[in-house]
Amino acid sequence: MSDLPYQRILLKLSGEILAGENGTGIDPSVVSYFAREIKSVVDQGLEVCLVIGGGNIFRGGANTRNIERVTGDYMGMLGTVINALAIQDALEKSGIPTRVQTAISITQVAEPFIRRRAMRHLEKGRVLIFAAGTGNPFFTTDSAAALRAAEMNVDALLKGTKVDGVYDKDPVTHADAVRYTSLSYEEAIEQNLKVMDLSAIALCRENKIPIIVFNFKEPGHLLRVIKGEPIGTILGG
Ligand code: UDP
Repeated sequence: MSDLPYQRILLKLSGEILAGENGTGIDPSVVSYFAREIKSVVDQGLEVCLVIGGGNIFRGGANTRNIERVTGDYMGMLGTVINALAIQDALEKSGIPTRVQTAISITQVAEPFIRRRAMRHLEKGRVLIFAAGTGNPFFTTDSAAALRAAEMNVDALLKGTKVDGVYDKDPVTHADAVRYTSLSYEEAIEQNLKVMDLSAIALCRENKIPIIVFNFKEPGHLLRVIKGEPIGTILGG
């Protein structure tokens, strides 16, 4: 047991970050960066679950022209499986044992999601990568992250993004935007702050799982967050 504030975490990373400067697809140098950052926390003895988005490959949802909503959503979910395999490969090259569990059965490439098995993998020190979102259209990988976080009894859900946390307005377009260091779930929902989608926040609130939003693109920030440093924004009740 380490003396860190969290023993078991779920890290949610958007697919978009994986694309790097290209904006789409998978940038191998970013995949290696992911592996280095994740290794830094595994080396601290933490149990780590991962949920990777799929936006770099395909984003479904309401606005996908010419493709039926549900089909687009399944395409997005399959994109997350591709990302999960890329991260698995990079982690294993760094000497970290991993398992991918997917919400859509693809038995040749990954295990199906089985909670009790997932628990066992964590106990054995394997990084667990959850792929294919919730397995259901009309959801997002944020919701999948909240769902798996609750199922796996994690101590915190870490959402790695391209910005330093949650701001009162968009920090990209407003120079005077102020970052919150902490927020309640209610404040995030009422003010419609873009933390995670509503169903994800509601699930975390119900299960009292803190959500920490931080800048994953800054080397070392993930490690600082798991050591309890107040960088980023923490959402709690
Ligand atoms: N998706 C879905 N159900 C899920 C998770 C994801 O239908 O449980 C689809 C949805 O179309 C989404 C796409 O997969 O747009 C990619 O996931 P997301 O947009 O959450 O990825 P991210 O923005 O994190 O890269």
